[in-house]
Amino acid sequence: MLVDYHLHTARCGHARGTMEEFVLAARGKGLKEIGFADHIPMYWLPDEHRDPELAMSYAELPVYMEEILALRAKYTEMTIKLGIEADYIPGREEELSQFLSCYDFDYVLGSVHYVESWGFDNPAYIARYKEWDIDELYHRYFDLVQQAARSGLFNVMAHPDLVKKFGYRPQGSLHDLYAETARVFKSAGVYVEINTAGLRAPVGEIYPNHEFLQYCIKHGIRFTIGSDAHLPEQVGEGFEQIPLLVSESNIVRL
Ligand code: ZN
Ligand code: FE
Ligand code: FE
Ligand code: ZN
Repeated sequence: MLVDYHLHTARCGHARGTMEEFVLAARGKGLKEIGFADHIPMYWLPDEHRDPELAMSYAELPVYMEEILALRAKYTEMTIKLGIEADYIPGREEELSQFLSCYDFDYVLGSVHYVESWGFDNPAYIARYKEWDIDELYHRYFDLVQQAARSGLFNVMAHPDLVKKFGYRPQGSLHDLYAETARVFKSAGVYVEINTAGLRAPVGEIYPNHEFLQYCIKHGIRFTIGSDAHLPEQVGEGFEQIPLLVSESNIVRL
């Protein structure tokens, strides 16, 4: 049955609800397994530039982990995993690797949220799309996603075509970029996340899009599913819209 491996918590500063409310929402929707994957502390920035509205602090991390363990002990009828959503920042692989080796996460979602330090998925910075050639932006973005996959730091590539979030589309075809990226995912041995948050975004479409998903399936890549819930009522949202070509046999348990 379906599993939601991408839940946030209020600690990231832009989500709401208690962690227990997320668990209860999952139970209410009949999910037997979930995983929290809140935003990693902004390891690549000096302390004074870490934005409390984007991610938890280092001090909050142990509390996050303890709360998951407590919920796991309380709701024994559910499987509750301890994950993290980690930003990929080129050149900072060593710092991330050190960070991850200090904690015992069940899985690490790898996310590209920045192109040249521009947080392109943040509505506050949407004006900057106008400064880009969108074809060029897509190339840079998928390049980073490929590098992230090859880094070996991540189990799952989260929302692998996030660059489409606000509906900016390139002129040219994306076939080659999708095909190449799917090949890189396969050779890197990463899983790919089917993330339904795109349905709530201006683009109104699941990540990855249908064509990209088909390339991934063609390469025998396996998937996780995540709602990227930032509110309890978003847990499991949109799962009924996941394409039928994703079957039980190509979904993994972490
Ligand atoms: Zn978030
Ligand atoms: Fe993300
Ligand atoms: Fe997320
Ligand atoms: Zn996300």
